[in-house]
Amino acid sequence: MEPQDEGYNDARKVYNGMIDKHPRMIAKCADVADVIRSINFARENNILLSIRGGGHSAGGLGVCDDGLVIDLSQIKYTRIDPQAKTMAAGGGCTLGDIDNAAHVFGLATPSGFMSTTGIGGLTTGGGLGHLTRKYGLTIDNLLSVDMVLADGSFVTANANQNQDLFWAVRGGGGNFGVVTEFTFKLHRVDTMYAGPILYEISEAENVLRWYSKFIVDAPEELNGFFAFLIVPPGPPFPEHLHLKKMCGIVWAYSGPTEKADEVFKPVRAFRKAALDLAGPMAYTALQSMFDPLYPKGLQWYWRADFVSEINDKVIAEHIRFGNTLPTLLSTMHLYPINGAASRIDKKATPWAYRDATFAMIIVGADPEPSNREKITSWTKQYWEALHPYSAGGAYVNFMMEEGEDRVKATYGENYPRLVTIKNKYDPNNLFRVNQNIKPKGKN
Ligand SMILES: Cc1cc2nc3c(=O)[nH]c(=O)nc-3n(C[C@H](O)[C@H](O)[C@H](O)COP(=O)(O)OP(=O)(O)OC[C@H]3O[C@@H](n4cnc5c(N)ncnc54)[C@H](O)[C@@H]3O)c2cc1C
Repeated sequence: MEPQDEGYNDARKVYNGMIDKHPRMIAKCADVADVIRSINFARENNILLSIRGGGHSAGGLGVCDDGLVIDLSQIKYTRIDPQAKTMAAGGGCTLGDIDNAAHVFGLATPSGFMSTTGIGGLTTGGGLGHLTRKYGLTIDNLLSVDMVLADGSFVTANANQNQDLFWAVRGGGGNFGVVTEFTFKLHRVDTMYAGPILYEISEAENVLRWYSKFIVDAPEELNGFFAFLIVPPGPPFPEHLHLKKMCGIVWAYSGPTEKADEVFKPVRAFRKAALDLAGPMAYTALQSMFDPLYPKGLQWYWRADFVSEINDKVIAEHIRFGNTLPTLLSTMHLYPINGAASRIDKKATPWAYRDATFAMIIVGADPEPSNREKITSWTKQYWEALHPYSAGGAYVNFMMEEGEDRVKATYGENYPRLVTIKNKYDPNNLFRVNQNIKPKGKN
């Protein structure tokens, strides 16, 4: 598809409405052969190339100006082996595609919080979600990938074949090639006991203090992320709370439903909530709960960091900025990563911050392009106030285009090994529209 073609304007748009890139060509790949041809074409003609899975990258890293976009959205299939508890999924699937396919069998693999996100970017960057404390990151449940490399060759990488590539693709993003198929380990996950429990914002200090300690020792079946939010003006929220600034925790318990009341006892004993919507729900309902609130095309600006300590100064800054949320959809989330993900060695995959307690993300979001400056400056100021207390790097999938030093900080001690593997598989940096790991000798 080229600029003069019908549908081009829609096809170049991504999830973040702030991104306005004009590719020279969009290759709507239907299969591995199309991906091979597209990569060869870009390499042979020296054309900039980007890989697009679900198009959710906030920095717009699935598209590029004046280059070729490899659009994987048609490579969408799943194949489940319920006995072996594994699932193969095409590289263009969204989280909704894999969640719905596995749910029929009462199974799931850990992924993210919104069903419209692509598994391509989410998985190659790590994958944080409601099941992280119990089953780890998405990459901790990745068994194998099929990939097309920069030289056009098609390979499989897993624990037995191309082990270096398999290591790199579990967190190193789209730096090493196009993943055309992922194979995931599945777990028995069916009805969840989940939902938000909200408190007045005047209680934020106590809630943050209690939550940040409680989640460290909570049972691993229980996930819960802290949020500042403005209550959406519609069901299921009661009218008296509409448009109020509040704080809360979005809980998700994956253990047996009959034990949920017991597990939630300390949560409910902590203090009476202004709204308690936690209850039984299908896993797929939980996974798509936020989709209607955040449709495609909003303006997004976000900043992130890994965080270990929530001390008094940190709490004070959170409260300052939580009280000044600039728009209805702007928010701040603290996602816990203690539990299963933290038991994996820091060097076992490129994901270097497994010893941090939280992945923090500050999100400015709004439908109005005229609010772009407002959401961007709030997000930047919030982040700047808290960054000095952070662990150093950020979750790579929560970063915009923030420069080489941030990418290095994020991979930490794993960065040199990523460069070695990049030198081997993509020495000319064909795959550079991403959080780029530069091969030696390339600027
Ligand atoms: C609203 C929203 C909610 C989110 N929630 C979560 C969450 O809960 N948990 C979480 O972990 N992350 C979350 N993210 C971040 C998300 O994981 C990243 O934005 C990720 O890059 C999205 O993947 P995508 O395929 O949709 O992105 P795209 O924009 O299509 O691609 C982004 C990059 O990923 C790489 N890529 C994509 N597909 C492939 C592939 N098949 N092979 C090789 N490389 C590929 C490319 O390098 C590309 O530049 C969220 C993002 C948004 C916007």
